[in-house]
Amino acid sequence: MRLHIGIDDTDSPNGMCTTYLGALLYRELSRIAEPIDLPRLIRLNPNIPYKTRGNGAVAMIFKVEEEFILEIKNTVLFYVNQLADFTHENTNPGVVFLEGDIPEELREFSLRALREHVTIEEAERVAREVGAEVFKFKLGRGIIGALASIGYPLESFTYELLAYREPKNWGTLRRVNSESVFLADRWSYPFTYDNVDPYKRSVLITPHGKDPVLVGIRGIDRGRVIQTFERVEFGEPVAFYQLYKTNQNTDDHLTYKKIGELRLYDSAVVRGRVAGPYWERGRHVFFELEDETGKIRVAAFEPTKKFRNWVRKLLPGDEIIAAGGVKEHDGVLTLNLEKFYPVKLVPKIEYQKPKCPRCGGTMKSKGDYLKCKRCGHKMPKKLIPVEVPRELERKIYEVPPDARKHLSRPLVLPGGEEKILEPTNQKV
Ligand code: ATP
Repeated sequence: MRLHIGIDDTDSPNGMCTTYLGALLYRELSRIAEPIDLPRLIRLNPNIPYKTRGNGAVAMIFKVEEEFILEIKNTVLFYVNQLADFTHENTNPGVVFLEGDIPEELREFSLRALREHVTIEEAERVAREVGAEVFKFKLGRGIIGALASIGYPLESFTYELLAYREPKNWGTLRRVNSESVFLADRWSYPFTYDNVDPYKRSVLITPHGKDPVLVGIRGIDRGRVIQTFERVEFGEPVAFYQLYKTNQNTDDHLTYKKIGELRLYDSAVVRGRVAGPYWERGRHVFFELEDETGKIRVAAFEPTKKFRNWVRKLLPGDEIIAAGGVKEHDGVLTLNLEKFYPVKLVPKIEYQKPKCPRCGGTMKSKGDYLKCKRCGHKMPKKLIPVEVPRELERKIYEVPPDARKHLSRPLVLPGGEEKILEPTNQKV
C-alpha cells in the first residue's frame, strides 16, 4: 500500500525547518517501510503572507505493509509534536496522510495552492473528498501546504541537497569556507547554480537564520549536486544531509493571465504596454502596465539591485511580457517583477542642439537662444529630434540570484525562457 505523507508549517524565524523534520522522518520511517523516491520539497505560492521564508512543504511516499501504517502515522505525529516551534504565533503545523493513488482533484488543488491563495476550509473540503486524513495543530494552516505537497505533479523538478548543523551550533555563525564554495561552483556550474553571487563575491548556499540548515546546494543533476557538496569545506561538523527532489527553479508557478484577471497573491505572466514613465520611491522603481482588460502597477524593488537599471530603460508605449507575483504595496495591487522580455520597443527620440551653422562649433543653451562656443553666433533655440538607440535587447531580463524566488527558473538553465516566450504570450 502506498502511503503519502505531507507536512508543513513547523518552523518560525526563531528556528526549526520543515525540511529538517522531514529529513529526520525520512530516515526513521525508512526502517519500517520502503521509500518510493526521494523526499520532496514543494514550494507553494511565494506571495502569500503567512510564509516564514520560502513557503516550502515536505512530502514523502512509502510502500508500507498494512500492519505498519498506524506506527508510521504515530511516528510522524510524534516528531511534529516534539520538533515544531509551537511558541510562535505564525507557526500552525499541519500533517496529511493519503493512502493509494493521487486523485485528479488533489492535483488541481496543488496547482491552485502554487499559483493562488486558498483557505484552510478549502483544504479540508478537498481532503474530505479525496479521503485524506488531516491533522491540525493550533490553527492548522499547514494542512494547505501538506495536502498540496502530496498532490503536486512534479513533472519537472530539480534537486536540493540540504546539509544540517549539530543542534549545539544552531543560532551561531555558519562556518563554511567561501573559497571552497567558489571552487566547487566553478567546477559544477550550471549543473548546480546559485551557489555564489559572482558580482558581489558572496556565498549564497548558507542561510542566515537560526534554523538547522548549514548549506543548501541546488542543481539539475543529482550526482553533481552531491559532488559539489563534497567539494565544500566546513569549519563545523555536518550533522547529516538529505537530497530532496523539488519544484524549485521550474517556473511552475507562472501561468499566463490578462492584467484584468490578476488577483492578490497570484503568480503570473502578463503581456502589456508600458502606460507611462517610471517613477521611484525609496529605492524601488515602479511603472504601470496595461492591456485591453486593465492596468497594474509593476515594481522592481530595491533588493533586485542592477535589474532596476533595465526597468528604468523602459519607455511609455513599449510592449513587454512580464512575470512576477501580485502583492499589495501601499494599498495598491502590484506585480513584483521576476523577469521581463521587451517584445516591441518604441523609438527613443532625444532633442539635441544643432551645430553652429556658421562655423560648425558646439552651441550652448542661453535661455531661449543658442550661442556658439567658438564664434559666438547666436540663434533661436530650435532643437533637432534624433532617434537614439534603445539600450534594451530582445532578451529576457531576470532579477539577480539573491533576489530570485525559489520557484523562478534561472535563464542559464534549459527551459528558463519557456514560460515567458510561450506562443500564447506572443499574441498581441
Ligand atoms: P520554510 O520555507 O522555512 O519551510 P515557509 O516559508 O515554508 O518556511 P511556512 O511556515 O510553511 O513557511 O508557512 C506557510 C503557510 O502558508 C503554511 O501554513 C501553508 O500551509 C500555507 N500556504 C501555502 N500555500 C498557500 C496558499 N496558496 N494559500 C494559502 N496558504 C498557503
